[in-house]
Amino acid sequence: MSSLRSQPLQPLNSGQLNARANNITPVKSIRRPKENVQPTDQKQKKKKEKLSALCKTPPSIVRTRNGRDYRRGNFLGEGGFARCFQMKDASGQIYAAKTVAKASIKNEKTKTKLLSEIKIHKSLKHPNIVNFVDCFEDDVNVYILLEICPNQSLMELLKARKRVSEPEVRFFMVQIIGAIKYLHSRRVIHRDLKLGNIFFDPDMNLKIGDFGLASVLPSTDSRKYTICGTPNYIAPEVLGGKNTGHSFEVDIWAIGIMMYALLVGKPPFQAKDVNVIYERIKKTEYYFPEEKPISESARMLIKDLLSLNPLHRPTIDEILDYDWFKGPFPDKTREISLQETPQGLDKITTAQSSLNFKIAKDAAGIYTPGSKNPVEILRSDLHSEQPRAMLPQSLSPNDTRNKYQEVDPAHMGRPRKVNFNTNFSTAIKRLNQECFKTYQNMRRIEHAKYDEIECIPEYENPTLISKWVDYSNKYGFSYQLNNDDIGVLFNDENTLLKLHNSDRFLELIYHDNEGWTCIENSLSHPPAQAKRQLEIVDFFAKYMNSNLSKVSEIEESKETVFLRRYTRTPEYIMFEMTNGNFQFNFKDHHKICVSKEGEVITHISPSRVTETLPLILVYKNGNFISEAVPDCFGKIAVIKEAIKKKAFENA
Ligand code: ADP
Repeated sequence: MSSLRSQPLQPLNSGQLNARANNITPVKSIRRPKENVQPTDQKQKKKKEKLSALCKTPPSIVRTRNGRDYRRGNFLGEGGFARCFQMKDASGQIYAAKTVAKASIKNEKTKTKLLSEIKIHKSLKHPNIVNFVDCFEDDVNVYILLEICPNQSLMELLKARKRVSEPEVRFFMVQIIGAIKYLHSRRVIHRDLKLGNIFFDPDMNLKIGDFGLASVLPSTDSRKYTICGTPNYIAPEVLGGKNTGHSFEVDIWAIGIMMYALLVGKPPFQAKDVNVIYERIKKTEYYFPEEKPISESARMLIKDLLSLNPLHRPTIDEILDYDWFKGPFPDKTREISLQETPQGLDKITTAQSSLNFKIAKDAAGIYTPGSKNPVEILRSDLHSEQPRAMLPQSLSPNDTRNKYQEVDPAHMGRPRKVNFNTNFSTAIKRLNQECFKTYQNMRRIEHAKYDEIECIPEYENPTLISKWVDYSNKYGFSYQLNNDDIGVLFNDENTLLKLHNSDRFLELIYHDNEGWTCIENSLSHPPAQAKRQLEIVDFFAKYMNSNLSKVSEIEESKETVFLRRYTRTPEYIMFEMTNGNFQFNFKDHHKICVSKEGEVITHISPSRVTETLPLILVYKNGNFISEAVPDCFGKIAVIKEAIKKKAFENA
């Protein structure tokens, strides 16, 4: 991207228009073949042309509602639904603006589809997914501003090359698989994976785009029944429609189609008549042409990916364990690949290939599954000279980290309860409101008259974070609660919480605009995409149990609580919990927890003496009773200010 800064807008793929316009077949065509499905059907073409024609070239300057100006550049390409133009912002940064004519959004269904595409795409961030930048509209169009991919897609590469070499395809596959693994971990099924939807960025890294058919599966067991996709890439179970339903495995099938197409030169079930394609798919009727030899290990992988039974297809992690990936593996894709086969790829040594493979996987966010030490934490990184202290700064980013989590605690712990109750700004607002309430109460209590205290209620000790490891520069923030539940707040803002003495774990998944989903799963049957996260939780658990001592004694679990946000400063680490409690671990190893909206305060001394009192009593007494906190009022003032700051943050 940086190389494109401040350059004048350049035509990027002129002469390559309508590159993929004929690839989409409307859903109805599968169900009512006689009416609609003729591959060269004039009606279909007309319909698409009509939609495209509705998309007017945007004005030369598009002004967004919040006053940002974008200068329109050249036409980039056209899909079934949208046209794409270059757009340049005031700083000279160039983007791709996917432009959808408002006139083409004729009914609620089309509108819902577009909003769903925006909602899903906006929530994604991965090195191999086209980055969503912004979304705005004028009177005639809706614009989806995207990271620009100036080197076209795998489809154009294949057209120019006819066939692609195995080492190059290996590298492509790792980047594609990294992105799909990420999508599936967020319960997103792409459902339209094909060469034309996988673009090259300026550095020749692959980026998956076009989330027009993507869907979020609310739970592990649910399935989708809408028949959609592109004929050559459609999985057999999708053709089963209402009877069978489909899930994440349709994307695995599409990986098989793409791999075959790249190595052989055309998709495996290709035929002129779309009905013939469907018949072949249903019988998995394809062959490897003799005149285009590909390796035995590649055939084996393709064969498994194209298994008729979705459950027989390998999982994302299993794909990368296939022997085929042990072959020559380049360190990157070079621009020359767009025109011709680069020289010398077959000569890359086994050792170099294995290193390149590992680096490519890391860059695509794939961790090696099943290895003994899956989370690569260096012991030297984690060694702490202060047994009860925070882990060294080397483990955490220098800046203060803020993580937002919002779940309706009322829904916690109920099996398979799906909760889409808050959107992100509401989530932050609610979090801020809790901070504000606590701050106000603390202020009121500070100025209350002590004589007013009549009887002092006894309070139970709150649920506390007793151990933690900040590894957010790689995976996330892991913690153990004093009820022995173990959680990881992953960098993608989702949380996995393993409940103690139980076969259950909770996945708290965040979807932009839709809020949080809390899904309860069983450890004995974890969903495929949660397996890796469980491995990471286990690794952290092992690390914490053998290396860190506890802040407080085990408390019997009263409630399900998890970490919603944490903030690190040189003086303290602040935890905001889902039950509205705040915990502050100070540098001098004294910990203070504020609960019940600021009415109650707990001190955990370095020797683990825990005392919970009404805040007003601490003010009256001048300190805690069992063990004094050094600079007690100073610490309470710091806490009050930190909570106040949060109350007004992002307001
Ligand atoms: P549709 O939803 O209509 O299928 P696509 O998302 O496939 O639209 O985009 C249509 C075309 O626009 C693509 O085929 C490609 O030529 C171009 N395009 C899309 N996204 C980008 C991008 N990020 N950078 C450059 N060109 C793009």
